[in-house]
Amino acid sequence: MKRLDFDRELASCKVCPHSCGTNRLESAKGSFCNTDAGYNISSITLHRGEEPAVNGENGVCNIFFSHCNMQCIYCQNYQISKNSQTQLVRKYDLESVVQEVVGCLKRNDTYRVGFVSPSHNLMQVIRLTEEIRKKFGDIITVYNTNAYEKPEYIRKLKGYINIFLPDFKYFYNDLGLKYSKVKNYFDYASASIDEMVKIAGKPVFDINGYMLSGVIIRHLILPGEVDNSLQVLECIANTWGSDVYLSLMAQYYPVLKVKYKNLNRKLTEEEYNIVVSKVFELGFENGWIQELGSAEHYLPDFEKKIPFK
Ligand code: SF4
Repeated sequence: MKRLDFDRELASCKVCPHSCGTNRLESAKGSFCNTDAGYNISSITLHRGEEPAVNGENGVCNIFFSHCNMQCIYCQNYQISKNSQTQLVRKYDLESVVQEVVGCLKRNDTYRVGFVSPSHNLMQVIRLTEEIRKKFGDIITVYNTNAYEKPEYIRKLKGYINIFLPDFKYFYNDLGLKYSKVKNYFDYASASIDEMVKIAGKPVFDINGYMLSGVIIRHLILPGEVDNSLQVLECIANTWGSDVYLSLMAQYYPVLKVKYKNLNRKLTEEEYNIVVSKVFELGFENGWIQELGSAEHYLPDFEKKIPFK
């Protein structure tokens, strides 16, 4: 990507559905994501907590971007995702990110790089991928997104991203507004996932069963929102077929006290069983279902050098 394209996009940012028009080259002022055009990152660390096929043999070197273009009131990564906070944001330049990522890859004998919460840093993701490939050689890149994206920008990732991991959160746009402060979530997420499926094509695996390219659609079941989950699953099966790779997540944990009672508790066994039954009823053939009770296990602490247990 030419420097010119990077600068032009971020001089009046419309990278994600908020379409703020902010000049991020100057500052983050006025943007929903509170993020300038730099490399605002909270952690670069090896992670083995993705789906087994994504982890590969030795894990993924994940770049956790700071802030987010959604503001989910229940966010499990709230320490780094709140747009109001700045304490866990580290300002890197391009060279120092690349250096740290390459170090992480070499130390851990892996060639997988994950971009976590990348939607508001899509242009930075492209640049980083180019530079890491120049320094390290071939890598498998993983785009770990909340799916609140614009399809025309997802298209720009062709040739840069190997594996897309969209978390398809809401079937009802109202829930996106209520819980995550975003408009038209379903419309943007479904159109963007469609683009990801087109770009990545049918999943490809190596001889050990590790994914080389493809899409895995995630869905986190929220307590008290079983109907939303059932509708999301129906939509996935009807739109992309029941042979699509699905990852059903049951790790919800109430990390923050919020005004909606249902979000201040964990998922019940009954809720979990209803959603899991739907997965089988719809005939999904590929993917993973998280066990109930996995909630605490997945909680990160970004104040620690290694955020995951
Ligand atoms: S990436 Fe940030 S500045 Fe750009 S449109 Fe989205 S929220 Fe606004």
